[in-house]
Amino acid sequence: MAPSPDAVTEPLRAVIFDVDGVLVDSPHEQAWREALADFADPSGFTTAFYQAYVAGKRRLEGARATLERLGGSGAAAQAAAYAEKKQAVIDRLIAEDRFEAFPDAIRFAEALRGLPLRTVLASASKNADALLARVILSEGRTLLSLFDADVSGREVPRGKPDPALFLLAAAAVDTPPWQCLVVEDAPAGIRAAKAGGMAGLGIARLGDEALLRAARADLVLTSLDELDMRALPSGVLRTRPVPPSHI
Ligand SMILES: [Mg+2]
Repeated sequence: MAPSPDAVTEPLRAVIFDVDGVLVDSPHEQAWREALADFADPSGFTTAFYQAYVAGKRRLEGARATLERLGGSGAAAQAAAYAEKKQAVIDRLIAEDRFEAFPDAIRFAEALRGLPLRTVLASASKNADALLARVILSEGRTLLSLFDADVSGREVPRGKPDPALFLLAAAAVDTPPWQCLVVEDAPAGIRAAKAGGMAGLGIARLGDEALLRAARADLVLTSLDELDMRALPSGVLRTRPVPPSHI
C-alpha cells in the first residue's frame, strides 16, 4: 500500500506535552509582567513579546532576554533578581488558582488513556506539576495523574529550541525519538521537536498558526478536538473527518 501523504512518522508510541499554553492557560506571562514592574517599564511586555523571548525558556534566560530588550543599559545584571521575583509572583498566582486548564487538552489527555501510547510532560518550568496537580477532574483525579512520566523542570544544557528536554522525555518512556509526537504552542518548542527528530503538533491558541508552520510543525490546529484520534497511533497526523451531518 502506498504510504499516506499524512504519515509523518513511524507508528507512534509516545506523546510528549509542553504544559504552559498547551494544557493550561498558566499565569507565567502575567507573573513575568507583574514582576517586571520593579525592574523596567512593563508596557512593552506584550503577549507577542512573551511568546518570542520568554515562553519555553529557562527562568534566568527569560529574565535576561526581557531585561536586555526592555530595561535600560546594565539592566540585564538584575536578571537573577527579576527571575526570583517572578517565581514569588507565580507561586502566589498558582496558590490562588489563577489559571485554567484548556478543556480540549483535558479531553485529549483523557482520550490518550484509551490508546496504546505513553504520555510524558516536558515543560521547561519547574512549576508544571504543581499546576497540573491543582486541576481536579472527575472522581478526584488530577490532570497530573493522566500522564505516565514527567521530566518538567529537569536541568538540561540548553532550553528549547534545543531538543535536550524532549530527548529526555522520550528516554523516560523508553521510546525512540522518531516514534514520539510533541504537542507545543511555542515555535521554539516545535523547532526543538524537529531538531530531536520528532513529529510536532502545533496548537495555535493565540492566532499564531503562521509562526508554528514556519517552525515546521507537521500539523497546526487551533483546538486539540480537531485531531483524528483514530489515525494517531499509526503516526498519521490529520484533522478528524467531519461527520456528514456537519457538511
Ligand atoms: Mg508552551
